[in-house]
Amino acid sequence: MVRVRFAPSPTGFLHIGSARTFIFNWLYARHNNGTMVLRIDDTDVDRNTQASRDSIFDGLKWLDLGWDELYHQSERIELHRQVAWKIFEKGLAYRDFTPASAESDTKERSDGPWLFNPAMRELSAEESQRRADAGEPFVLRFRVPRDSSHPVEFRDAVYGAQSKLPADIEDFALLRSNGLPTYHMASCADDIDLNISHIIRGQDHLTNTFKHVLIFEAAGAALPTFAHLPLLIAPEGSKLSKRKHGPVVSVTTYRDAGFLPHAFVNFLCLLGWSPKDNREQMARQELTDAFSFEGINHSNAVVNFTDQDPFDPKAVWLNAELIRTMPVEELAKQLLPFVPNAEPGKMLQVAPLIQERIKLLKDVSTAADFFFLDELPPYDSAELIPQKGDAPMALAVLERARDVLSTVEFKHDALDQALRAAAQDLKIKPGQMFQPIRVAVCGRKNAPPLFETLEVLGRETTLKRINAALALL
Ligand code: GLU
Repeated sequence: MVRVRFAPSPTGFLHIGSARTFIFNWLYARHNNGTMVLRIDDTDVDRNTQASRDSIFDGLKWLDLGWDELYHQSERIELHRQVAWKIFEKGLAYRDFTPASAESDTKERSDGPWLFNPAMRELSAEESQRRADAGEPFVLRFRVPRDSSHPVEFRDAVYGAQSKLPADIEDFALLRSNGLPTYHMASCADDIDLNISHIIRGQDHLTNTFKHVLIFEAAGAALPTFAHLPLLIAPEGSKLSKRKHGPVVSVTTYRDAGFLPHAFVNFLCLLGWSPKDNREQMARQELTDAFSFEGINHSNAVVNFTDQDPFDPKAVWLNAELIRTMPVEELAKQLLPFVPNAEPGKMLQVAPLIQERIKLLKDVSTAADFFFLDELPPYDSAELIPQKGDAPMALAVLERARDVLSTVEFKHDALDQALRAAAQDLKIKPGQMFQPIRVAVCGRKNAPPLFETLEVLGRETTLKRINAALALL
């Protein structure tokens, strides 16, 4: 039975690398009819924030993939402690009474990496118990076997065989001096208790895994399969970080710019994984069917962005394609939050007119703003003058348009016929007729098709805007 978990710590906003880890766990679970566990790693009380919790849940809910079980580590601390003390009782952990201040001194003074404090590692059981009973604070440390002929080993499903000598692993803490579990302890105790079969997480945790292997073995638990994911890096090659790269690393930035959840999921899937058959645009079911550890690359995945353009062109392309092909009712629903106070019925009429013209949902505010405004923002009246025409021509066009549009039926074909006939009458080209009207009603030349636009705007607004344009000439 496949059971995977995504285990974010609520100490920052939801990073796109974390979102990718979530998605790969989800795909692996769904591909194998397994269970997706969401576990909030909230034992670090000093660093947890509510804003971060909200950012994680907001971001994950927006991805719209869901999860099957939810746990909070902070509610499971007793279990973490029990597993730690079970390891202690087996003689595989010991109390280290070195005061925190002296501890950093010893660690700094020694040559090479600090491994353990011999006086503490060798403290007799009686002495250790006596000092604990007397209330002296201590850190509970794992007693890493010091037999250098036995490396710690495991096989990573992505990176292959891994091995590390004990001489490179310090006696790491299981419980802090305040009694709270460390990340290593809490994570392994929960992975064991929750029967996690596959641990899929960022490559930055690969070296932690040696410690985790030691904990699993000490606790008498079977090792899960580990699969580490290549890192996401910036175009200049450094690891993506909020501090360095700003909002492009936050999931909510994509949401707020108007990426569709699935386009974003699709994009993240292609960072470090590929279906090996050149497919890029894939539906959720296609991703689920194709997902496997074999498709995960070893090399880090580059997210392309610049100071001018924060979004990877591939993400934007996938989004534009999805917008172009989605049902118009669904598009209208997705566009609504991007136009304050837009009326849903109106949006349903506007959506088909901009479906091929926008790449991000937020583009609706520039591509279709004039549909939702009572009054147009100021525009340059020179725009009203048709190509190869002059101000008197613009005036004649708009006056004639006002007459025609006062009576004609506001339907595509009727508008088309009436305005073409008017152009013929005025002895001008249809384009010369249409441009002043388009600018008068949209405030610019670059706009959706005219007759559809007029139909949506309606007679009253159209005439009001033509009058306003006439006043400019
Ligand atoms: N809470 C850890 C993190 O956010 C989880 C790592 C893991 O998956 O074990 O990095």
